[in-house]
Amino acid sequence: MTAPRLRAEPSIAHLDADAFFASVEQAQRPSLRGRPVLVGGTGPRGVVAAASYEARTMGVRSAMSMASARRACPQATVVVPRFDAYSAFSARIMAALRERTDAVEPLSIDEAFADLGTVRPGPDGWPGVARDLRERAVDLAGVPVSVGMGRSKLVAKLASAAAKPAGVVVVAPDDEDAFLLPMPVRSLWGVGPVSAERLEKIGVRTVEDLRGQPLDTLTMVLGEAAGSNLFRVARGWDDRPVAETRERKSAGAEHTFERDLHGRAEVAAQLPAVAEQAFARLERHGGAARTVTVKVRFAGFSTVTRAVSLPSPTADRAALHEAAARALDLVELTEPVRLLGVAFSGLSEHAQLMLDLAGPAGAAGAAGSAGAAGAAGSPADADDAEALRPVARRRRGRLRVEDAAPGLDVRHPTHGRGWVVNTRDDGRVAVRFETAATGPGRQIWLDPVTEEVELVGALGPDGAELPDAAAADDPDGEDT
Ligand SMILES: [Mg+2]
Repeated sequence: MTAPRLRAEPSIAHLDADAFFASVEQAQRPSLRGRPVLVGGTGPRGVVAAASYEARTMGVRSAMSMASARRACPQATVVVPRFDAYSAFSARIMAALRERTDAVEPLSIDEAFADLGTVRPGPDGWPGVARDLRERAVDLAGVPVSVGMGRSKLVAKLASAAAKPAGVVVVAPDDEDAFLLPMPVRSLWGVGPVSAERLEKIGVRTVEDLRGQPLDTLTMVLGEAAGSNLFRVARGWDDRPVAETRERKSAGAEHTFERDLHGRAEVAAQLPAVAEQAFARLERHGGAARTVTVKVRFAGFSTVTRAVSLPSPTADRAALHEAAARALDLVELTEPVRLLGVAFSGLSEHAQLMLDLAGPAGAAGAAGSAGAAGAAGSPADADDAEALRPVARRRRGRLRVEDAAPGLDVRHPTHGRGWVVNTRDDGRVAVRFETAATGPGRQIWLDPVTEEVELVGALGPDGAELPDAAAADDPDGEDT
């Protein structure tokens, strides 16, 4: 195996927000600043999606069950995720990168690679470039981020991890060995607990130990692909380019039938297969969708589309199949049908998280994509739907106590904007009235039966109302 040609400058950046969801909550709710905050599922099987640094010092980590997180940090404020807010903050973070280059490759909602090879460093060199980038992202989004830079993606990502929280680390090519060699192998991409254990058995704990191993030993211990990959990683051999990515608008499938379908039962029977094909495409893009559109072309070639929007993006197969069935119900089937299509849009890569938040059972159920099309209704799917309920609440309209999940945005005619802190068995809801612009606000117990409290969408990073995603969806505008 030979070394690839690597660039001479540390011009690949990896930008990563710190405790992103929790940081957005702290940015928008001044009373939470400097306090432990847990974002995640609040149901019995809920999982922590993000923990603020104040909570991390108490031993809380993301992906921990919410129950154990609460035990570890009983003083923490627990809120459900608000993806409308996170998406808006994410766009600002990505914008800071896109100001500098088109070569931006998002990895998730809050981290991305950028190729800054076209940037000319000033007198402060690459560290100056990294600091400027970090400051710009913080200015635009108002949440803490960290920036790592190196001559490869591998090093840039490890550098941003080393820079956390709220720092920059630039690894010059000459310093790469000093940076990499002392690292535990567990911190490397592609080294999970199983590989780490196998490596430990042959005495490999650090990258330096790893570099001492011949290629054939590594492939024998870890298999061909993983072994040769780690052989390269140990040497910093990574010449993968930053892939310029444009977000896909939709994933879909259509089927034209050999003979026209007559009647609702016949059309409905064909729907699961088409939806499953669309779902397979969605999965290939690692995506999740919020809006499910069904397209029907009649024998006379007129076409009708109907869409159903879910409360939040999901990658859950059963939920998407079910939404497709509901969309088909909205189509008036007046004549024979020659074509049936299903499209998923409002795609979001990070939405897989919605499943993880619901608990391990929900996540596992969604991961299995094989099996008969249209399995909705099987006992396993019913269980998943149950697990997803906590995050699939209604988020607009008059507040009812059963919808009052902690963290949701509300508005009151006299007190203004606030967020749900808690509910009580007597049906009262605690709301803290504050926004990023007001400073820490007062908590008031309200009775949503007598008081006009309204569930509203989140505000953006600039404090302006965000457009209602559900209203903005245009089913006819999707390319199927
Ligand atoms: Mg992050």
